[in-house]
Amino acid sequence: MPELAEVELARRIWEPGTGQRIVAVDSHPHARVYRDTPASIIESTLSNTFIVCSRTHGKRLLFSFGDGSPCKSTGTHPTTHLELHLGMSGRLFLADPDHEPTKHDHFILRTTRFALVYSDYRQFGRVLLHEPCLDPWTELPVEVLDPGFTLACLRRLTARRRGTTLKALLLDQAVFPGVGNWMADEICWRLPCHPGIRLQELDLARVRTVSRQVCRGALRHVADKNAPRDGARGFSPGHYVEQVPPRSWLFQHRWKAGGCCPRCRSSLARGTIATRTTAWCPTCQPEDASEA
Ligand SMILES: [Zn+2]
Repeated sequence: MPELAEVELARRIWEPGTGQRIVAVDSHPHARVYRDTPASIIESTLSNTFIVCSRTHGKRLLFSFGDGSPCKSTGTHPTTHLELHLGMSGRLFLADPDHEPTKHDHFILRTTRFALVYSDYRQFGRVLLHEPCLDPWTELPVEVLDPGFTLACLRRLTARRRGTTLKALLLDQAVFPGVGNWMADEICWRLPCHPGIRLQELDLARVRTVSRQVCRGALRHVADKNAPRDGARGFSPGHYVEQVPPRSWLFQHRWKAGGCCPRCRSSLARGTIATRTTAWCPTCQPEDASEA
């Protein structure tokens, strides 16, 4: 499942559409990705609008639409917002304006220059429209790289969760939005702490520092270094990026046969923690601490 850096890369892939008018919207109206908003409403709302701006929050993407007047000069802000979730297999890509949709291309925004395509063969993703408003995301939790993600904030969010495991906490989208399985393993390995350690054993200040380092590094290695050169190649989980975090990251070794810890060369351990497959180094991240 795409995590925050892959989601930011997906946003950048559609970014060339910013400022352009939507001349047509194509959809597969019965696709499961429209379980929040009927495709017909999305089509009628977005036709003839302009993409004004886009942003991400954790694993969510938001594209905002207006009537073409640039918000900087008029002081107005777009009130039409389309939210996308990539789910397990969703991907965004850019194609020629006359792109012929395949059976998995459930949603297409067409401008005179591009087709902005949302493709999702498993359809765990979502395409939804918000009620008109200035900002539909005011209630979302603070992001890990936001200045508001302070130690006090993290303490408040975890106050009633002292018995939670580290891995479960890192996967909780209300605390670490955008962190998924691979980033959670990377954070545990860098702390270094066994992923099954209970929260009460942890130094939250260090969890905050390391989670921010991993989020920042993931954005740099995945989103920045894979700047889309050929949008048509798009973004697809599993083979969406050429540039991945370097060999000094656990990422490169966690599922390799005979994978070793890049720090101490011990063979990596694997197991299920917090219902997810997890890799860790038994030497750098001994389990004892969590059993004490
Ligand atoms: Zn190690």
